[in-house]
Amino acid sequence: MAKVTVENLTKKYGKTTAVRNISFDLEDNEFFVLFGPAGAGKTTILNMIAGIGDPDEGRICFDGQSMNFIESSKRNVAMVFENYALYPHLTIYENIASSMRTKAHREPEEVIDREVKRIASLLRLEGLLDRKPSQVSNGQKQRAALGRAMVRKPNIFLMDEPLAHLDAKLRNAMRKELKAMQDKLQTTTLYVTHDYAEAMSLGDRIAVIHQGEICQIGTAEEVYNMPATEFVARMFG
Ligand code: ATP
Repeated sequence: MAKVTVENLTKKYGKTTAVRNISFDLEDNEFFVLFGPAGAGKTTILNMIAGIGDPDEGRICFDGQSMNFIESSKRNVAMVFENYALYPHLTIYENIASSMRTKAHREPEEVIDREVKRIASLLRLEGLLDRKPSQVSNGQKQRAALGRAMVRKPNIFLMDEPLAHLDAKLRNAMRKELKAMQDKLQTTTLYVTHDYAEAMSLGDRIAVIHQGEICQIGTAEEVYNMPATEFVARMFG
């Protein structure tokens, strides 16, 4: 896992400034949440860290090394999306294994097999490895998508509203699962959400984003008890 530093990022789309002068650091093994309403600029920040669209100004560093203009595939970031993006024709096993069989890097089969089984056991997917995504539940699909991201041992996990499609009960269960996984695996995660409960329960720290700018960065307790702006007070009040 890497220490990730974001310095003075600005991104414009034509006349729209989607992100303005954003800075934050992610500590090793931290679960950092970007929280804000629709259109605040959260996905734009995530994408720039992933290498999908470079900033107009500012810098992204992994362990002190600038990532600007380094192509996405060389950054070793793992993205987990709302729609899981599993390969429908592959089994859960093959889906998880697929990210250890990239063009750039291919592990020996016995290493892949060991790692897939270790992750499957951690995510309680052992009995489902022979099934296709259409034969498992949404929560299990979500866990498989997480597993596929995890076996790559990424520098950072980028998660964009990964629980948004789930019903309230499952979302709650998955939230607990994510938290337990984070504690167990010690991963650095940047997590985007507009869900208050998710931000509060998952974030070691939360950055509150409004109209492309950071209003406050703090623990759940800090943003709740000591809101830095009117907007934060409204979001957490
Ligand atoms: P949501 O939760 O709705 O995804 P968000 O906080 O992730 O919102 P972004 O998707 O980052 O917000 O969008 C920030 C701003 O940039 C919005 O005003 C959006 O309309 C604009 N924007 C994002 N992507 C593009 C694009 N490809 N072209 C033009 N404008 C864009």
